[in-house]
Amino acid sequence: MRNIIFIAPPAAGKGTISEKLMDKYGYKHISTGDILRDMASRDDEFGHSLKGMLASGKLVPDEIVYEALKRRLLMNDLESGFILDGFPRNLNQAREYDKILDEVGKKLGVVIYLDTPKDILEKRIVGRRICSSCGATYNILTGINTPKKDGICDKCGSQLYQRDDDNSESFKTRYETFINQTYPLIDFYKKRNVLYNIDSINPDDTMRKVEEIINDND
Ligand SMILES: [Zn+2]
Repeated sequence: MRNIIFIAPPAAGKGTISEKLMDKYGYKHISTGDILRDMASRDDEFGHSLKGMLASGKLVPDEIVYEALKRRLLMNDLESGFILDGFPRNLNQAREYDKILDEVGKKLGVVIYLDTPKDILEKRIVGRRICSSCGATYNILTGINTPKKDGICDKCGSQLYQRDDDNSESFKTRYETFINQTYPLIDFYKKRNVLYNIDSINPDDTMRKVEEIINDND
């Protein structure tokens, strides 16, 4: 099984796909945030210094993130492959990731771009409504998962609410960050012949296409 990097704008469906892949194929999920928290809880020198850094609330320097990632990749539970989450976010990190892979003797695997039109992404975020009681999610703009009754959860009858950051402004900021920093990775990986482009609109179709890619590359 090949390792996977998803290049995905906000709300492209990366989280859902990752969960399905973990369930079905035993992929491990590697997020740099989780790794840092995990390493910080360890009783060794690296853990102690990390703990201090995280507690201070300052941004953890890139070098430390790389070191933590390297340590994670050296653990022996990754034979079924892994999905990198939130990394690399920019070209510098992508170049550094190449070095790390060399050092730990692992392969890059496949890079999958979840290509979703901007207006759909915006509707997914701005139209998202969450049940205040059971946490079920709905959308009032996409036509998928529309609540049957306005503002009311189908499952438990409680009120639906909109998260503060699920608004147009915050979407635009996140989308621009993606375009400026992460989008250039597409060219970077295309040149290496590891990039797959998926039109990611319907979640089931997207999952099927991802499975085709990982099975073809097995
Ligand atoms: Zn509910």
